[in-house]
Amino acid sequence: MIRVAIIGGGFAGLAAGVRLCDAGYPVTLLERRQQLGGRTFSYTDPVTGDTVDNGQHLLMKCYRETLDFLDRIGARDDVVFQPQFRMDFRHADGGAYTLRFPSFLPVPLNMLSGFLRFGAVHWTDIPPLRKVKAELSKDLDTDLTVDAWLDHCGQKPRMRRAFWDPLCIAALNQRPQNASARYLQAVLREAFWGEPDGAHLGYARTGLSGLFENRAREYISKRGGEVLCGKAVTSIVPVSSGVHIHIRSGDVIDTDMCIAAVPPLQLARMICAKTFAELHHTLCQYEPSPIFSVNLWFDRPIMREPMCGLLGTTMEWVFNKPVLYGDYDRASEGFLTMVASAAHHLLHLSNDDLIDLACKELHQIFPESQRAEVLHAKVICEHAATCALPLSYAVPKTRTPHPHLFLAGDWTDTGLPPTIEGAVRSGYAAADAVLLK
Ligand SMILES: Cc1cc2nc3c(=O)[nH]c(=O)nc-3n(C[C@H](O)[C@H](O)[C@H](O)COP(=O)(O)OP(=O)(O)OC[C@H]3O[C@@H](n4cnc5c(N)ncnc54)[C@H](O)[C@@H]3O)c2cc1C
Repeated sequence: MIRVAIIGGGFAGLAAGVRLCDAGYPVTLLERRQQLGGRTFSYTDPVTGDTVDNGQHLLMKCYRETLDFLDRIGARDDVVFQPQFRMDFRHADGGAYTLRFPSFLPVPLNMLSGFLRFGAVHWTDIPPLRKVKAELSKDLDTDLTVDAWLDHCGQKPRMRRAFWDPLCIAALNQRPQNASARYLQAVLREAFWGEPDGAHLGYARTGLSGLFENRAREYISKRGGEVLCGKAVTSIVPVSSGVHIHIRSGDVIDTDMCIAAVPPLQLARMICAKTFAELHHTLCQYEPSPIFSVNLWFDRPIMREPMCGLLGTTMEWVFNKPVLYGDYDRASEGFLTMVASAAHHLLHLSNDDLIDLACKELHQIFPESQRAEVLHAKVICEHAATCALPLSYAVPKTRTPHPHLFLAGDWTDTGLPPTIEGAVRSGYAAADAVLLK
């Protein structure tokens, strides 16, 4: 039996482990931290006892491999999807708008109907959407930015502010001037112009760790695999028959095949810069993009919607945690999470500044919140929430120059932006590459 080791217990590594276990390969998964989940995890807030995510994660119905993964490990029912695509927006100037694509209409009539009723845009903004549709089948240049592409497609500033900018920042965690148009094109193809329900948003009705951590661990363990936490890999050394994996404790694991499912900058530290010169150089070019979550506990409920997009503010979304969790997990009635993505511009602010900013903006959007008292607040900054290469670089693929070493992770060449779906697809792809050996 071929021995396979997986480094990294995020969605990518766990998906690879599940796929290989299903194929009868008992994998060994090595995770540096004491918990699985990587950039998706939750913890219990010591002050309130509530379950807090490291950042609100949304899925879409078109996340087909993620749903397959969650299905396999028995977690699919803990993800709730909207019955139709709906996003409520509130503007700092007091405006309230809803973008809703009726599920009884086929694509693109559902979108046409939705945009015609979306008060944040004017009907004259809608015809140029045809140009976007016409571009979806094109092979866009790798260095084309979202900004330049939307310009080319004749998208007007009002439509950009109300729809394209929030979509780009949320889905790609990059600003339109830096983000790759190819990634936005992929999101549009799969979510909006694919199956009619592709864009329906979904969320876990429990904290992220509760959703999949134990289930994935058990799934792998019950099929003969082992999941070892607290195992920090320091180097990956290819040998002729396989790979030697060095652990910080001094142990060395000798394996036939290795899937490295860690973020790019961590991988760069594990591989020899000379042996893997080109890959190493590329890994070092990845640039991290931060996401801030400002968790606020008010003494009363502030909003009724489960989530709301914010326009004309620095914070971009607000999530109503007790509504999202229902009775399935702990969230006090006044617990909100405000989120800012691709937020390099906030890195200089202190946590107190961020809390003040979030409260000020919330007061503008929901004036009744001014009467409420903030009982507790917690800022979480994920400095490297996602990573992206400068547009001129080719994204690394699953296979490496060494026949026994494979790559997985949301940053690898999945054709998707760095998301859970990208991570799961990359894990499945790496497992499939091992199975072909
Ligand atoms: C705040 C936030 C909000 C987000 N929102 C969304 C969203 O709404 N929708 C969406 O689809 N995506 C979202 N994402 C992105 C999503 O979380 C990631 O794309 C996905 O989790 C990446 O999974 P991964 O397995 O590729 O990497 P990771 O989750 O980073 O997993 C890598 C694992 O490798 C481990 N590791 C690192 N070094 C070593 C070592 N030396 N030895 C052993 N193990 C090691 C790490 O501890 C980690 O567990 C968000 C991310 C953040 C942070």
